[in-house]
Amino acid sequence: IQVERLRLPVCKEEQWIVETINEHDVVIICGETGSGKTTQIPQFLYEAGYAHNSGIIGITEPRRVAATCIAERVAHEMNLTSQLVSYQIRYEGTAGERTKIKFMTDGVLLKEVQYDFELTKYNAIIIDEAHERSTYSDILIGFLSRIVRLRRKRNNPLKLVIMSATLKVADFKMNTKLFHTPPPVVNIDARQFSVTIHFNRHTPKRDYIEEAFRKVCKIHRKLPDGGILVFVTSQSEVHLLCSKLKKTFPKPVSNFKKMSEVIQTEAVAPFSSSSRLENRMINKNEGLNLNSYENTDDDEVDERDSEDGDDVDESSSDEQVAIVSSTSFAKENPDGPMYVLPLYSLLPSDKQALVFKPVPAGFRLCVVATNVAETSITIPNIKYVVDTGKVKTKFYDAVTGVSTFKVTFISQASANQRSGRAGRTGPGHCYRLYSSAVFSDFEEFSEPEIARKPVEDLVLQLKDIGVDRVKNFPFPTPPSAQAIESAERLLYRLGALEVVPCSIATSKPKKIYRLTDLGRTLAQFPLNPRYSKMLSLSQQHQLMPYVVALVAALSVQEVFVNSLHHHKMEDENCSDEKKRLEMQQARLELVGKGEARLLGDNMLLLKVVCLMDASKRKEEWAKLSEKYGIRWKALLEISKMRKQLITLLNTLIPDLNLSNNSTLKFPSQVQAKLLRQIVLSGHVDHIANKKNDVRKVDPTHISSFKFKILSDFHVFIHPSSSLFKNKCEYVVYQYIEETSKLYMKGVTSVELEWLPLFAPTDTRFDPVKLDDPDNPPVFDEVDGHVMCHMSGKFGPQFWAVPR
Ligand code: ADP
Ligand code: MG
Repeated sequence: IQVERLRLPVCKEEQWIVETINEHDVVIICGETGSGKTTQIPQFLYEAGYAHNSGIIGITEPRRVAATCIAERVAHEMNLTSQLVSYQIRYEGTAGERTKIKFMTDGVLLKEVQYDFELTKYNAIIIDEAHERSTYSDILIGFLSRIVRLRRKRNNPLKLVIMSATLKVADFKMNTKLFHTPPPVVNIDARQFSVTIHFNRHTPKRDYIEEAFRKVCKIHRKLPDGGILVFVTSQSEVHLLCSKLKKTFPKPVSNFKKMSEVIQTEAVAPFSSSSRLENRMINKNEGLNLNSYENTDDDEVDERDSEDGDDVDESSSDEQVAIVSSTSFAKENPDGPMYVLPLYSLLPSDKQALVFKPVPAGFRLCVVATNVAETSITIPNIKYVVDTGKVKTKFYDAVTGVSTFKVTFISQASANQRSGRAGRTGPGHCYRLYSSAVFSDFEEFSEPEIARKPVEDLVLQLKDIGVDRVKNFPFPTPPSAQAIESAERLLYRLGALEVVPCSIATSKPKKIYRLTDLGRTLAQFPLNPRYSKMLSLSQQHQLMPYVVALVAALSVQEVFVNSLHHHKMEDENCSDEKKRLEMQQARLELVGKGEARLLGDNMLLLKVVCLMDASKRKEEWAKLSEKYGIRWKALLEISKMRKQLITLLNTLIPDLNLSNNSTLKFPSQVQAKLLRQIVLSGHVDHIANKKNDVRKVDPTHISSFKFKILSDFHVFIHPSSSLFKNKCEYVVYQYIEETSKLYMKGVTSVELEWLPLFAPTDTRFDPVKLDDPDNPPVFDEVDGHVMCHMSGKFGPQFWAVPR
């Protein structure tokens, strides 16, 4: 490890880096990906004494996987325990009293700012991957620019280190709103070998996956040894390309028997100690398919503690592969074996770590990755990069409120970053699957995230920290005024903000939005304010366990998969399409009838959670995930999130005693109806109303009704929704995605009569506690089962937690 460390470019600059930090409160460090910033600079600070008194060193990462995986790596390099070098992410962490170096997601540090504005616990904060411009790290830099000044005044200086993989740091450096004097920039000169760029002659074809596949085959068959790294846009594309490659370069050994012979005859020594691995293979009764390692890993990966003891197993699996391949594969296959690994951010970190492990002898490494491999993870020994030139990004239209995932061309900066991956260990080649003419049309840099996302959660957090005028916050790049306004409007409609006249007698802003008690409550939850609002209404009719389950599921990304690449496709006779239809049918049946069906896709989520409760064993979860097309990791995330919310609710509300391991039953018809109202209350601005005459107007749309949303354009229920083809008049949706049409996803049917109560367009919410004797709740007796609302007041009742 010491030898490896000394080879890293940042280590040559240790003295310069440490001196600059000693002399300045804010320092920017730029260095190529892989130059050692993330793993080494925290260690420099540690050695320079920045964690010697009671203060600690904090490092923020935009991704959870980076925080956990790097904490482990640094602890290993320093030979310290995971208590001393720890991580903290949303659900879990190893940080404690003895922690000296803490890796965390940027969201975690932002929460800490809320409770201890001066961050007194820290002596130094490192904002890593600042070039990615994730919203939270941007905001943190904004806050830290002020905190550093405050701490300097208090004579207890805090060091701020901003690390970037690119030289584009002007937004931080030259921004006088942030830093009065531009902070010094330390440039790490990473040794970079030359990379030959090969452009495609023609304009890119539509099917870039096919194109990438052909290019990889060609490289593998014709060019000398060296790892291949392919950039595609999404998790499903990663799986698609991986499975194509695995089919083309077939499995080394085709049956289990043959393999076990090989193991017994040739690998006695390495295997005698790793019985777990052997068991795993025997159970699966499959050949040595690298793919099957990955899939079978799942159930174990997530249960065990994240540190210690894994390395032995993993490395022995590599040895095993090496042995088998060298005996029985190389002879039979003229194409040469290929070691195909997927890499994307939702992939469990253990599997991501496979890219660091040695490649089995005789195999060529081929990593198929999304843009996580662009900067945050460095894969050793890559010689060839295949760049599709595409990226999938979420765009948000502040005017219409429509979020869309679009596959677009990358920026020139990204393209160069990608090609740079080929020159880490020697001269390399980058194959760009687009022409140089197209390249010159790429944007120079990509837009920071803050400009592409709705900012309601951000605005809520900022106001909770006390920033009333969000527009004046020192953002490295401010969100558009329109985005801030629409966030304030939404928060206002949720009851989180109230309008107060501006007390300062200035000419311009006549009113400001300030947090209400409800708003303060909503800010306590690590959720989108829409979902926190739903929770805040849930303490009636025994609905809380359901709403907790629902919002936990809603806050997890991409629960359902509509492609089948997540599952092992062993049954080759069964077509994708057939499986998809079966899955669709199973989902419809699960949703059920009556009120249940009207809760739509949210009922599906809820019932999945109920089924998870009913089947405590992980094997049954695997069946669930297969049957309904649910991402396996999503189930674990939902379950973690749910536990976290229950713990939080129990601490916020005295005497609540919400149980953490009760089994949730399917909701009753009445509960289903009330849940629809609750869903509506959180999606006040996501209402769509059916246009009846659609078939006459547009005969091609027979299968899906056309809906009109408030901002006056037309949307459709997505075919994967359980309410597709249903006759509902009013629906609320979770989000709109633009593919061939504008599609609503996560749809629930609601009633027109509920709108004034649950989605008022203009209202004042007054926080009233449920047990307030002066304001007894009045139940609407129309049919006995409506969420209660306050007498004489407008809007449903909620609880507010005192700060
Ligand atoms: P940077 O932050 O500048 O991109 P890192 O500090 O992340 O660089 O990585 C430095 C080197 O350490 C890289 O060559 C990378 O391959 C290696 N490395 C990082 N994490 C691990 C790990 N978990 N296991 C093995 N090697 C790693
Ligand atoms: Mg890094």
